[in-house]
Amino acid sequence: MGLELALPAEGFLTTQLRRVINWARRSSLWPMPFATACCGIELMATACSRYDIARFGAEAMRFSPRQSDLLIVAGRVSVKMLPVLQRIYLQMTEPKWVISMGACASTGGVFDTYAVVQGVDQFIPVDVYVPGCPPRPEQLIEGVMAIQRHIDNEGMPPISGGKRVPLGLAIEPSHVVRPQPVGLTVGRA
Ligand code: SF4
Repeated sequence: MGLELALPAEGFLTTQLRRVINWARRSSLWPMPFATACCGIELMATACSRYDIARFGAEAMRFSPRQSDLLIVAGRVSVKMLPVLQRIYLQMTEPKWVISMGACASTGGVFDTYAVVQGVDQFIPVDVYVPGCPPRPEQLIEGVMAIQRHIDNEGMPPISGGKRVPLGLAIEPSHVVRPQPVGLTVGRA
């Protein structure tokens, strides 16, 4: 991995324990997918060979909250489903992180109804908002990298007054918005 070249002749390196722990922690995020709708398909694409989230050490997606530390909410969450999401979040190990993927998870999206939660951040602390309908895999990867950068620098999630403070980072869209196609006209022009 090129590490040997960086080693001095004596064959050892010195560093800080905090840096090693942060490096290990950010290089082994275990996502807990909470995919309820179409955004989940993009989440699956992120794990496939074309985008390969394994490059960031975050490919071990398991449906076991007690082994996971990165909750990815991908898709709309109904009010009926909300207690399940909250229980999964509570069961996850500390330190833990949350990504809200797509317009539906962050705001309810086009589902402005009484049955859909209008933003999961009202009920669980969201660290990174990934925009889009759906977001592209690159944007989700950027969200994962935003959390990795925070772990690299700070290590742990921010706590204030004994309460977890969400990072509240928003990822920039990676595409240029294009105008909508011209609408069809009915009858003679
Ligand atoms: S944001 Fe769009 S793609 Fe994602 S779950 Fe909602 S409708 Fe589907």
